[in-house]
Amino acid sequence: MAPAEGPGAKKGILDRLDSGEVVIGDGSFLLTLEKRGFVKAGLWTPEAVVEHPNAVRQLHMEFLRAGADVLQTFTFSATEDNLESKWEDVNEAACDLAREVADRGDALVAGGICETSLYKYHKDEARIKNIFRLQLEVFARKNVDFLIAEYFEHMEEAVWAVEVLKEVGKPVAATMCIGPEGDMHGVTPGECAVKLVQAGANIVGVNCRFGPWTSLQTMKLMKEGLRATGLQAHLMVQSLGFHTPDCGKGGFVDLPEYPFGLEPRVATRWDIQKYAREAYNLGIRYIGGCCGFEPYHIRAIAEELAPERGFFPPASEKHGSWGSGLTMHTKPWIRARARREYWENLHPASGRPFCPSLSKPDV
Ligand SMILES: [Zn+2]
Repeated sequence: MAPAEGPGAKKGILDRLDSGEVVIGDGSFLLTLEKRGFVKAGLWTPEAVVEHPNAVRQLHMEFLRAGADVLQTFTFSATEDNLESKWEDVNEAACDLAREVADRGDALVAGGICETSLYKYHKDEARIKNIFRLQLEVFARKNVDFLIAEYFEHMEEAVWAVEVLKEVGKPVAATMCIGPEGDMHGVTPGECAVKLVQAGANIVGVNCRFGPWTSLQTMKLMKEGLRATGLQAHLMVQSLGFHTPDCGKGGFVDLPEYPFGLEPRVATRWDIQKYAREAYNLGIRYIGGCCGFEPYHIRAIAEELAPERGFFPPASEKHGSWGSGLTMHTKPWIRARARREYWENLHPASGRPFCPSLSKPDV
C-alpha cells in the first residue's frame, strides 16, 4: 500500500531531501533506555517495546518534541536469531509505537534493520537475506514511510540489506558504522558509499561507533567517493553523542569505558550545534544521532539549523538559543553567560583530576 496522498498527507523523505530541506533524525534508544532500566546491555535487544511500551513511547515523544523529523522503529537486532519466537511481536509493537508518536507531529516512521550476528561466521547470503526479509515484511505490513539499513561494519552485508529493503519499493537509507579507515575488510568509506548507491540506496552515510568529528571525516570520504564516480545520493550522518578521538578502527566498543563508563565523553549541546553546522556545510541534509545522543542533542541540531529550516522545535520553548534563558538568572556572573561566545568557546572540565583525557583502546 502506498503512503496516503492528498491534502494533509506528509511529505515523503525523498521529497523533503530533493527539495533541499534539512531532515533531522532521532537519537539514542538502546544506551538511553539501558540507563533508564529498560534494556539489558550485552545482546542489546529491544523487548522494551512490548515489556515497557510507555518507556519507549516517552523517548519517541521526547525526540519528536526536540525536533526529530524521523522516528525510527525500535527494532535494532529484533531478529529471529536474537529474539526467537518474540521477534514478530517486537517488530509489530515497535512500528505501532513509532507511528502513534510520529502522527502527533509531521514526523516520518523509518523501519530499521541492522547487521546480523551471523555474517562474521557464515557469509550465507540466502540465510542472512531471509532474516532481513522477515523484518521487512512486518515493516511493509505496518506501512512505515521508508527504510533504514544501519550499523553495518561489513560492506557486503550492508549491500545485501539494501537489496532486500529495495524489494518493497520504499525509499532506502543505508548507514555503516565505520570510521575513516573503512569497513572491517579495508573497503574505504568512498567505495562503501558507491556500492550502497549502486545497490539502490537513496540515502547513504554513517551511524554509531564514532563521535561527531570522526563521523564527519568519514562522511567527507564517502562524499568524495561518490563524486569521483559521478553517482548521486543524499547524505546522512547519525554519530555517537560521545567524543571518541582515541578510537581505533572498531570505534567506541573498543574503548575501555564502553559501555558503562562513557559519561565523561558526552558531547555538550554546543558541540552538537557545531556538528550540525559542519554537517550542513558538508552538504549533509539528513542529520541525527545514535548511541548517547539524547533529546537535548537533537534539539541542538534543530536550533543550529533553525535559520535554514525557518522554525524552532517545541522543546526550544524551554531553552532559548545560546543560553538566552539565563538573562533571567538572579546571579550576575551567570546572567553574563547568556551569550553565544561564552558557550561556543567553553572547554568543559571533566571534574576527574586523575582521568586521562584519552584512553588506550583494548583492541
Ligand atoms: Zn549507536
